[in-house]
Amino acid sequence: MDSYLLPEFVKSLNGLDHFDTESFIRVHALGEQPVSVHMNTVKPVLTDGGWPSDFIHPPFELAGKVPWAADSYYLSQRPSFTLDPLFHAGTYYVQEASGMFLSFVLSQITDLTKKMKVLDLCAAPGGKSTLIQSLISPESLLVSNEVIKTRVPVLTQNMIKWGRSNGIVSNNDPSHFKELPGFFDIVVIDAPCSGSGLYRKDPEAAASWTPDLVNLCSQRQQRILADAWSCLKEGGYLIYSTCSYSKEENEDVLDVHMQQYEVASVPLFPDRAWNIVETISEKSGAFGYRFYPDKVTGEGFFISVLQKTHTGLEETLKNYSSRKSMKSGPGGRSGKNPLRVSRSASLLLNPWIQAEQLELITIGESIHAMTPGLLHDLELLKNNLYLKKAGIRVGKEGENEWIPDHELALADFLNKDCPTLNISKSDALLFLKGESFEAGVSGKGWHVVCYRNQRLGWVKLLERRMNNYYPKSWRIRQ
Ligand code: SAM
Repeated sequence: MDSYLLPEFVKSLNGLDHFDTESFIRVHALGEQPVSVHMNTVKPVLTDGGWPSDFIHPPFELAGKVPWAADSYYLSQRPSFTLDPLFHAGTYYVQEASGMFLSFVLSQITDLTKKMKVLDLCAAPGGKSTLIQSLISPESLLVSNEVIKTRVPVLTQNMIKWGRSNGIVSNNDPSHFKELPGFFDIVVIDAPCSGSGLYRKDPEAAASWTPDLVNLCSQRQQRILADAWSCLKEGGYLIYSTCSYSKEENEDVLDVHMQQYEVASVPLFPDRAWNIVETISEKSGAFGYRFYPDKVTGEGFFISVLQKTHTGLEETLKNYSSRKSMKSGPGGRSGKNPLRVSRSASLLLNPWIQAEQLELITIGESIHAMTPGLLHDLELLKNNLYLKKAGIRVGKEGENEWIPDHELALADFLNKDCPTLNISKSDALLFLKGESFEAGVSGKGWHVVCYRNQRLGWVKLLERRMNNYYPKSWRIRQ
């Protein structure tokens, strides 16, 4: 059978547990690409268990649930997501199904109703982060970090669309997290990898596979795990995943880590019917879970969970000194809160939000809303990391009026009584292109634009025209 997979690549996988060379090559040659989405539960859109019927590019149906993830579905074919306003409203995220297994992992290892701090260390474009934010309790904290600067905007955009106030986006190298010893309950490392698990989606990439690439990735992965280790608290979990099949990037990385630190590997118990392959690493007996596209409806994926059983002496001392400096640090000593919001700003803002469950802070010119109880953590993170987003930027004080930020339109706490323009799909697409449309109302001022009750952004209605405030860099071009 003709195959775009390099023979040396396939050969390198021979001998892996349950690896079936023939069916692996066959499934790649078939070229099928399952499409799947996970739904944003704070922005429900499914009606009678199906997609709104006027989403017709091309017509499709939900083709079953992703078995290991709540609120996640396969689609019968790939529609034009760009032309669906509900996609831009953040009502769902298009995500590869195997990667959604993180949902099962989180619910197995932890009580998700508890308050916790989660770091998604390699977060762009935001698939895992949106999934995590849907699963953790609203009072928990999610830090979504991306080291590559040019990939931060897409991550930020996706987190804004997800609309929750308990998230922070940072742009740091993994080594910077050493400054936060024992801070996180869970660290997710969806590591940069050789990407062989995605060759069905991008057959041309298969030609660039080399053993050197795999080794380079493996070294980098080991470094990332080592850098992230100290910010995990004792008893906390590190969830490691890649979309590579190579043992060097998966089981071997676990082995190196297990030999250097005090760690327990955590077994997972997926349903046998899901056909996920459990592996046990050669040197340390770490459990890993492999997804092969000839066995599951999804792409190639590997995931494993490590629990930190003991924090070393060096780390304990660092922990102690950083706690001490937090207590005597700025704000703590003077008793002043440097982030306080002025009374005039609060008065202007209050009618826009359901404020009882929010804390407001000033960052630069803007006011941000955060889940209560997270400000102390924010302060600590701000002092150690390069933060790109904190909570929801709700806007700023203008002359006698509140100037709402785009993030507020997409947030789950916008006041329901806020002036609203409900528009058709064709007008919604005009809005998303940054154009004007017939408003059909006589009111003036700021209005939130909605399609099927899902908010898209702001317009300001003036005497004879409309100003479209959909962010320029987000506008669709089709
Ligand atoms: N978790 C993301 C999701 O679900 O949408 C996908 C993450 S992707 C597999 C790996 C990410 O790691 C990329 O965004 C990449 O920019 C980032 N990355 C690349 N080099 C890195 C490094 N040296 N340290 C940490 N992250 C890195």
